[in-house]
Amino acid sequence: MENIVNKKECGWKSVDESRKQEIFHFCNEYIEFLNCAKTERETTKIVIEYLEKNGFRPVEAMTTLSIGDRIYYNNRGKSVFAAEIGSGDITDGLNIIGAHIDSPRLDLKPNPIYEDVHLSLLKTHYYGGIKKYQWTTIPLAIHGIIVKPNGEKVDINIGEDENDPIFTITDILPHLAQNQNNKKLSEAIDGESLNILIGSIPDAEKNSVKENILYLLNQKYGIREVDFYSSELEIVPAFKARSLGFDESMVASYGQDDRVCAYALLKALLASNNSLYTKVAIFADKEEIGSRGNTGMYSDVFDYFINMLLDRTNRNFSGALTKTYCNSRMLSADVGTGIDPNYQEVSEKNNSSFIGFGVELNKYTGSRGKSGASDASAEFVAFIRNIFESHNIKYQVSELGKVDIGGGGTIAYILAEKGVDVIDCGVPVISMHSPYEVTSKYDIYSAYDAYTAFLENSEKVKY
Ligand code: MN
Ligand code: MN
Repeated sequence: MENIVNKKECGWKSVDESRKQEIFHFCNEYIEFLNCAKTERETTKIVIEYLEKNGFRPVEAMTTLSIGDRIYYNNRGKSVFAAEIGSGDITDGLNIIGAHIDSPRLDLKPNPIYEDVHLSLLKTHYYGGIKKYQWTTIPLAIHGIIVKPNGEKVDINIGEDENDPIFTITDILPHLAQNQNNKKLSEAIDGESLNILIGSIPDAEKNSVKENILYLLNQKYGIREVDFYSSELEIVPAFKARSLGFDESMVASYGQDDRVCAYALLKALLASNNSLYTKVAIFADKEEIGSRGNTGMYSDVFDYFINMLLDRTNRNFSGALTKTYCNSRMLSADVGTGIDPNYQEVSEKNNSSFIGFGVELNKYTGSRGKSGASDASAEFVAFIRNIFESHNIKYQVSELGKVDIGGGGTIAYILAEKGVDVIDCGVPVISMHSPYEVTSKYDIYSAYDAYTAFLENSEKVKY
């Protein structure tokens, strides 16, 4: 009768020294990845580099596809779909894992640059759910592109190199912050005060700091003020990803939601053996703002990709796409919440994830009365449990937080609406959406193991 109680235990307890080294080694590479992949564009580029090195080819370049072929589709440099053709009939369903590669940040407005009280600044418009106060008085970097009308692209990446300058958003000194301190936390920092300080030297001729900055930008990048109209410039924390804790068991970094799952997925896709079912990996953009737009998961571009697979395997009969979806299984690889020792009151302990206790399954997401939830069926959860338990993969099943407190969603429901069996499965995070998110190395490796086992699985869900 020993096993009748569900004993939840820290994963590190069952990790021996060689396994620990394997986990730490994996996470060292992950930390390097985080330091180069701070935006969806940079992540797309790096994911494609990994894919190309491992035999993946652009799907458009292939006229037919057969077992073992590895292909990918680059969606406008901001999202990627990759697949490896399985040995079975593709319309019998796919093993899909989907992560997203955009993260909360500050975008520059189209008319960003201005001067006030003899200083020059950039106006921003925040992207995704941020707590505005967290973005003041920290070092910031600017990443992105400026595109000129002739199509020429100027890549910008400033604030990461030790020799680069950084930028920052200022805040009121405590001595004068009486009014600010009395405001609600959500209102203490105004969206219009998230302005980036970029310069203070006026030009000799017009005594203008703004014009001096424009002159420097013109010298360095060949751009004029009007070129900001056609730019996508993202302000991200200039911190480096680091190991966290005396025991180095955790990772602290910007952008782990959801690059932690994206990285585990990428490595699992490359490591997994060819399987009966065609494996599909999604690296999506725009999840943080509702998955709309032609690089978000609501767009038909994913259907287009799957249709290309059906065409090139000669299985694109009438209704084939829908049949394929209805037979498919998916892990929505997105982060969950780890219980925070300082803020336990927002979680319900029986249904919370603990960092270091393994990969997290959320049977459903949504908020309050499961509004907007994608709720995985009991049959599908049993199916996933069987995969994880038979591979000795430590997992925990939890909710985002207490029922009435709030909620959230992922890309899960979008694929569920196409007919796919989907469950959320990712790494629990503490300080999610902050400039410095915390994860456990044990969970990162559990996600990698879980994704590998899922991709290789050749069973069907039993209904
Ligand atoms: Mn996410
Ligand atoms: Mn998020």
